[in-house]
Amino acid sequence: MSVVVVVEVEDSRASLVSQETLTFARDLAALGAGELHAVIVGACTEGVIADCRAQGVIALHTADNPELARYAAAAWAAVVEASGRAARADLVIAPGTSRGNEILAHVAARRGLEMAANVVRVESVQPLRVVRQVVGGSVLETSSVSSRVRLMTMAGHAVEPVPAATPGAAEVRPLAVTIAAEDLRAKVVRVEERVGGDTSGLTSARVVVGAGRGAGGPEGFDGVIALAERLGGALGVSRVVTSLGWRPHHEQVGQTGSRISPDLYIPCGISGAIQHWAGCASSKTILAINTDPDAPMMTKADYAVVGDMHEVVPAILEALN
Ligand SMILES: Cc1cc2nc3c(=O)[nH]c(=O)nc-3n(C[C@H](O)[C@H](O)[C@H](O)COP(=O)(O)OP(=O)(O)OC[C@H]3O[C@@H](n4cnc5c(N)ncnc54)[C@H](O)[C@@H]3O)c2cc1C
Repeated sequence: MSVVVVVEVEDSRASLVSQETLTFARDLAALGAGELHAVIVGACTEGVIADCRAQGVIALHTADNPELARYAAAAWAAVVEASGRAARADLVIAPGTSRGNEILAHVAARRGLEMAANVVRVESVQPLRVVRQVVGGSVLETSSVSSRVRLMTMAGHAVEPVPAATPGAAEVRPLAVTIAAEDLRAKVVRVEERVGGDTSGLTSARVVVGAGRGAGGPEGFDGVIALAERLGGALGVSRVVTSLGWRPHHEQVGQTGSRISPDLYIPCGISGAIQHWAGCASSKTILAINTDPDAPMMTKADYAVVGDMHEVVPAILEALN
């Protein structure tokens, strides 16, 4: 069984979720005694090749046409399609990012194939049965995918990225792809630098201290920020906080914010609405602080402190110091 993984590039390396997807795909390929391939659209750096090698990739299909430099879902899908043909793929897997899902949806539509998005687990390979996240991760659904070539995207943080016992050759194989004009009808035309904010710190932090409406106002975040700094972590907030303009949107956790999976999440004054939960459910341990013992976050948390966050957080800081 040959598996192709769509690798997304971040800071000239394979993104974290791409590395997770490669680890997952390698295990699947091993089940069918198959080969692990990868495809990269755009410039392929030494760092990406090294990451693919470490994950056991045997061949790296690349397409670096100038018209692919900017993201265009249909054009990138044409490249992924070409890599599937070159690798004689039975399975094509992309990270479950908005781009990964969009590209594979295009491939599925172009080729009349079946696709399962945001998979967290494979129950059987032949026939393919997967468990996937739906409704923003609040519901798990079991699906079967029966087309000859099967497509799926992996939910972020469903597996830990682990290097292969034996590195792969990651042999670079350029693809000859002609991009049709109609595949460039929808494309990114301009990219603007984010002003004051780095989401990668939040999504990769091992500790996240969260704050919601319970903070009480824009001046109510000093304690949680100090706690996040003390623990070497990041601040994450609820949507109420960003909607009220208390904190910037890049700090939002949830369905319409960032998905986090820290070792420890400390939500303070956050009720735990389903849309917030969708972004923090993969946290390994949750310690909730809330005045309401019946708030959903308190009932789902591993540890819960019933109390005012403006008293509990300084007390934790004092104890730590
Ligand atoms: C389409 C859609 C997408 C959404 N996406 C997101 C998303 O990405 N992220 C997100 O967070 N939400 C999202 N929401 C909003 C979500 O439904 C909730 O409204 C929101 O998460 C609530 O934020 P909160 O917990 O801060 O506020 P509240 O629900 O008002 O809860 C405040 C909590 O603070 C507690 N509290 C009050 N004072 C204190 C105190 N002094 N000390 C300790 N505890 C205190 C209260 O007991 C309460 O539990 C979305 C909603 C929709 C419809």
